[in-house]
Amino acid sequence: MSNSTKVLIIYTGGTIGMVEDPETGLLHAFDFDHLLEEIPELNKFDIQLDVHALEKPLDSSNIGPQSWVEMLEVIESNYESYHGFVVLHGSDTMAYTASALSFLLENVNKPIIFTGSQLPINKIRTDGKENIITAIEVAGAYENDKPVVPEVAIYFEYSLYRANRTTKVSAENFEAFQSPNYPLLAEAGVHIKYNSFAINKGNSEKLVVRKNIVEQVASVRIFPGIQKEVFQAVANIPNLKGLILETYGSGNAPTFNWLTEELLRLNEKGVILVNVTQCNTGKVMQGKYETGAHLERAGVLSGEDMTYEAAITKLMYLLSCEELSLEEKKKYMGINLRGELS
Ligand code: ASP
Repeated sequence: MSNSTKVLIIYTGGTIGMVEDPETGLLHAFDFDHLLEEIPELNKFDIQLDVHALEKPLDSSNIGPQSWVEMLEVIESNYESYHGFVVLHGSDTMAYTASALSFLLENVNKPIIFTGSQLPINKIRTDGKENIITAIEVAGAYENDKPVVPEVAIYFEYSLYRANRTTKVSAENFEAFQSPNYPLLAEAGVHIKYNSFAINKGNSEKLVVRKNIVEQVASVRIFPGIQKEVFQAVANIPNLKGLILETYGSGNAPTFNWLTEELLRLNEKGVILVNVTQCNTGKVMQGKYETGAHLERAGVLSGEDMTYEAAITKLMYLLSCEELSLEEKKKYMGINLRGELS
C-alpha cells in the first residue's frame, strides 16, 4: 500500500454512520465530510481516502434494489479511478446487498469491502472504528500491483467473509455475521492473515454492471401445518418469475398432493423454483428422501449450499440477464458463478 493507493468509501447509512446528539441523546446521520475528525487514526494511513455519501443515508431495512443501483452506479463511475471500495452499510441487510452486488457486478477485479457496526461510531465502545480501519486496509491491499482480495466481501469483527456466503446471525454480538459453508477469506489479529486458497482470483475482463434488476420474486418458508391457501397466495402473484422454497434439512417438504401440483403448475408457467434449506450448514440433496424427490420431479432446482441471501439475489440477477433463455437461467442457478456455492 502506498499513498498512490486510492480507496473510495461509499456511505449508505446504518448504525455506523449515526452519532448521538449529546443534548438529546437521539441518533442522527453523521456528516461524513468530517470522517477524518471522527476517526483521526485514518490520517495515519498511507492511502488516499475519498468519501461518497448516498443522497439519503438509510437504515438498511429500507435498502433494496433501487439503492443497489445507486451503489452500482457509484462503483461503475469510479471503478477505474480507485484501487478499492469500502461500502458502509447497516448490518441488518448487509448480506443481501453485498450478495446482490457480487452478482450484479460481473468480472470484478478489485476489492469491494462492506462493513458497518453494531454501535455508532462516536460511542466509546464502538466496533465501528476497527471495522472501518481494517476494511480500508483490505480494500487497499495490493501485492505486486495485484489486489489481494479482488471480490465483494464483508469485513466485520476481525473476520473477512465472501459476501455471498454470509448471513447475519446476531443482533447483539459484535461478531454479527457467519459464513456457514465457506472458510473465512481473512482473519485480522496482529496481522491480517489472508486465506489465499479461499479468495477469488479476479477477472481481467471488462466490468459489466447489471442495473435492470428483476424484482418479481418471492419466497415461502415451509412450516408444519402450512395450508394450501398460504402457498397459493404467493404462487398466484401475477407476473411472478421466481420462487424460493425454504425447506427442512437436506431440502425436504411435505408430500402433499396440492403442493406438488402447485409446483408443477408454476414450473410449467416458467417460474424458476429454487430449494434452499432452512438449516445453517449443509446442503440441499433432493434425491435423499421422498420428501425431497417429489420437489425434484416437480421441477424445483436445488439451491445446493447457498445462503438464502445469495439464492434470492442470484435469482433476481439471473432473471435480469435478458440474453439468457429460461433453460439457461435455470442451469446457471445450479452453477457456481461467484463462489456462492460449493
Ligand atoms: N438497523 C441498522 C441497519 O441495518 C442496524 C445496523 O446498522 O447494524 O441499518
